[in-house]
Amino acid sequence: MPNKILLDIKDLDVYYGGIHALHRINMVVEQGEIVSIIGANGAGKSTLLNTIAGDKDKKNGAIIFEGAPAPTRAHQSVERGIVLVPEGRRIFVNLTVKENLRAGAFLEKRNGIVNDLYTEVFDLFPRLKERQNQMGGTLSGGEQQMLAVGRAMMARPKLMMLDEPSLGLAPIVIDEMFEKIQQINRDLGTTILLVEQNAFIALEVAHRGYVLSVGHIAMQGNARDLMEDPTVQTTYLGIK
Ligand code: ATP
Repeated sequence: MPNKILLDIKDLDVYYGGIHALHRINMVVEQGEIVSIIGANGAGKSTLLNTIAGDKDKKNGAIIFEGAPAPTRAHQSVERGIVLVPEGRRIFVNLTVKENLRAGAFLEKRNGIVNDLYTEVFDLFPRLKERQNQMGGTLSGGEQQMLAVGRAMMARPKLMMLDEPSLGLAPIVIDEMFEKIQQINRDLGTTILLVEQNAFIALEVAHRGYVLSVGHIAMQGNARDLMEDPTVQTTYLGIK
């Protein structure tokens, strides 16, 4: 039996003033999947995630989430279960780790549930537990990325979107981060949509992938098949 479609994007066009950033994007994310979008600098990857998260007004086409139009305001998206871990993490540097996490659960007033959420995050990221009273700004890049992901987990998303989670991290930290992303998908059942310039790791962890090229979907398919595709290998994986 086919899986339930969580996110269905139909003929999406997005503009920045006169700049046509995304062209007729059609994309599907099924419940329980990890889907990776790869593409070069400026391909439109961030624009796509930001648009799904409700950040963009200048668009045509449809973004359907759980069978109904996705909200066009970011806070309503969080209520519906769509959460974005933005590029560059954007954690609160002058708040503690725990306060940053609390901010992720801003819709939740029940302390018991918030405590359960802290436990879930701290079980996955013991480092954050150790540093829970430290200011966000004092964390390493890898720890800040963990915090950004932990903050997203606090909203109990149905769809977690990650924008370049590998950015600026050392290779060993990147591997660890992607293992955690897989764990969130496997153990919590969270559907993941991520964009990456690091195509190798993005396709390695994904079930399916899309290649975005200057605002168009150039290719799509099973992540393993994409990894073996000669064009993907030369253009995105650096294999000659
Ligand atoms: P990167 O990896 O560098 O973030 P990307 O694939 O995420 O690249 P986007 O940031 O989505 O690409 O940019 C897509 C296109 O839209 C680019 O041509 C970019 O110059 C343009 N663009 C992005 N943001 C704006 C903006 N605020 N105003 C005008 N043009 C923009």
